[in-house]
Amino acid sequence: MKAPSAARLHAMLAQALVPVWSTCPTVHPLLQRELDGWRSRLSEGKEEYFQRVREEFGRHGVERPVIDALGVAQGDPLQYLKGVFENVFSLAQTLYVASFPVQGEGQTVELAWSYQGNRLYPDQGACGELGASAVCMTDILRGDEARRVTIKLSPGQFGPPSWVVVPYLMCHELICHAWQRVPFCSEDDFAEGWMDLVALRFHDKCISNVFPTAPAFMVAEYSQGLAKIVRSQWRDLEEPHLTTRPARCRGWAAASWMIENMSFMAQQAGRDPNAVFERLSIQLNCIDTTVDARQAFVAQINGLATEVRSGHASKGLRRLNSLIDDWMAGRATPEEIYHGVLSFR
Ligand SMILES: [Zn+2]
Repeated sequence: MKAPSAARLHAMLAQALVPVWSTCPTVHPLLQRELDGWRSRLSEGKEEYFQRVREEFGRHGVERPVIDALGVAQGDPLQYLKGVFENVFSLAQTLYVASFPVQGEGQTVELAWSYQGNRLYPDQGACGELGASAVCMTDILRGDEARRVTIKLSPGQFGPPSWVVVPYLMCHELICHAWQRVPFCSEDDFAEGWMDLVALRFHDKCISNVFPTAPAFMVAEYSQGLAKIVRSQWRDLEEPHLTTRPARCRGWAAASWMIENMSFMAQQAGRDPNAVFERLSIQLNCIDTTVDARQAFVAQINGLATEVRSGHASKGLRRLNSLIDDWMAGRATPEEIYHGVLSFR
């Protein structure tokens, strides 16, 4: 069996078991054993494979509803995820168009799949916890307005937990990268960190509508777990993860502080703090600039946060907040906030 068929088979299994995954933990090690041994059964089709897993579960006394979950006919799981992607894309585009009309319109983003046989991360994810990753690229032949999000599946590790994090990966690629105006770079603190926080919040807001088949608590547990894993700094990791993870940490720290800082101001102005932060982030993400300048912007915000937390009265903070006030009142552009922050040095 080739990797694409294996991935589809594992995705079917994952989709079927998602509703019972958290209620019947005894299936976890049984399924893990199946996933570990999948290579030795490359020739099996869906029916034989599911039958084998059902028998294995039956032999170990797994409850009937769990075994029955594997007997329910499901459509093509990758087609289902494509539908999820289309919904997420449409919501993300609406958000971008509302925040920055010129940048959001005309952008097309298509979904592609790729497959890999090896483990993606050196850490051992339980039952396929890390069986999926994603990347967003410009389609060189069709120019900057055509971008493609590729979800890479590692079939052997693709179980229910991987299944529930796929929409988060889609949100990350679309919210962080599909409309960004600088070249893609894994060291970009703003795209990989700051916007990743925006993406996770966006995910949490829309997930129950775009992905109703998975239990909400499971989606939250695994997507936030994944977000945490990709932010942690790991030694001995190959590029680009070695650079992306610290970039995530720095960008998250800056964005988290900014939410805190802006909340009070937004409330004073009678605005929804979350919506105001989301809108500013998207506008900043659409500025034509360089990765180096975005790094400097994030460093500058983190510097301000450190000053404020250590109790120093900060001239930079007063200037930043007066710019934000002006921007909220329509008197300043996002570029003025961005370049203002860069000039604080
Ligand atoms: Zn990214």
